[in-house]
Amino acid sequence: MNQKLAEARILAARKMPYMTHQVMTLIPVERHGLGTMAVDEYCRLYFDPAFLEGRDLKHLAFVVLHEAIHVWSRHGKRCVRLLGEKPAHDRLGIWRQAVDAAVNDVLEQSSLRCPDEGVTPAKLGLPRNKTAEEYFHLLIERAEKQPEQDQRGSDKGHTDSTGGEKGDAAGNTPGEDVDQQGGGDAEGPGKPSDIGGSSTDGQERPWEDGPPSQAHPGLAEHDQNLVEASVAKAIEQYQEQRGRGSVPGGLARAAAELLHPKVDPARELLAKVKYAVGCTSGFGDFTYRKPNRRQPQGGALLPAHVKPIPRVTVVVDTSGSMEQSDLALALGVIGNALRSLPDPRGLRVLAGDTAVACAKNVFRPEQIELSGGGGTDMAALIVAAAEERPAPKAILVVTDGFTGWPPKPVAPRVVACLTQAGTASAVPKWIDTLVLNPED
Ligand SMILES: [Zn+2]
Repeated sequence: MNQKLAEARILAARKMPYMTHQVMTLIPVERHGLGTMAVDEYCRLYFDPAFLEGRDLKHLAFVVLHEAIHVWSRHGKRCVRLLGEKPAHDRLGIWRQAVDAAVNDVLEQSSLRCPDEGVTPAKLGLPRNKTAEEYFHLLIERAEKQPEQDQRGSDKGHTDSTGGEKGDAAGNTPGEDVDQQGGGDAEGPGKPSDIGGSSTDGQERPWEDGPPSQAHPGLAEHDQNLVEASVAKAIEQYQEQRGRGSVPGGLARAAAELLHPKVDPARELLAKVKYAVGCTSGFGDFTYRKPNRRQPQGGALLPAHVKPIPRVTVVVDTSGSMEQSDLALALGVIGNALRSLPDPRGLRVLAGDTAVACAKNVFRPEQIELSGGGGTDMAALIVAAAEERPAPKAILVVTDGFTGWPPKPVAPRVVACLTQAGTASAVPKWIDTLVLNPED
């Protein structure tokens, strides 16, 4: 065990107490010639003893925390989710800048001084308090506007810009700090061009030990989940004790999302709609059940026909009790449903308060007029929707829930999308219920 590294970890844990569990879980692995510190996806902290020697404890504590936050934030997985298993080299370079900006932003907000070579939002000319994904998109947007400058940027070796790993980026001119310490030795022959470990982008490095084994212990997914949750709880407690703002915004948000995951109403809704129309495999899919008459001899199967797209009617409550925010939510839901149900006839929408005020096929949510404004009785609208010909397979009712419901079931399946959580108990049992706004 390297003594200086041990001390740096203790200092790191003191600086950000809620990261203690993650910091202390890192498994040190010595790697001579690495020139830096880096963490893989199994919580192994690779370090070059020479790198430790040349730096003071404060600097090393910063790097340890930087690496710990990469792991805790699952930047590796998030990169794969965003860019796929084999991302293009230039996009990967932009992702590494984005995650480093996000991490160093969090560290600076904890009054830790980012080493000169570290990427920060300020150095990139970007706002603070964004997620890695947001920084990525901002950087991509900029790169698309200035293709030549980006070219210059992404051709350089991107190292993990922890800040700190390499203080001697001698060749860098001022203004090139966008590339952090990337110049320097990273460009030298035989040096890896991407020092940061797989915890930053999910790409295994040649010098990493791979999945955990007896010879090379590491944290498996399950163990890492436990550490992740325990750190999230520590963050929440720390903030409860010391007040809002005591934890950098990015960490506090990430912890809250982990401990209290929000359901994505649009996804939930789509799942319910698919269930309601008895079609789980995606709309407009091909089916291979019936043989196609044009089946070529001995050839590949051709899809028999395109599945008919089940008709879904959306009933929108436009009564006085629906607030503007409810209406916005309703429009958002319909917008998402429209995108997910590629119905060439458009989406059938009935809107009104106690009777149908507007009925039409729409192709964009803006086409829906939310008129009405009187008392509420969705019963009449649901019955009207059920009686339309051709009959819908499912009816989505978007309402705040302060409404009457039909006394007996209608033929199509009905899904109530409630914009107010408190009204769910009044919905009849035969109606499937989804609360769009569980916060209330
Ligand atoms: Zn980094």
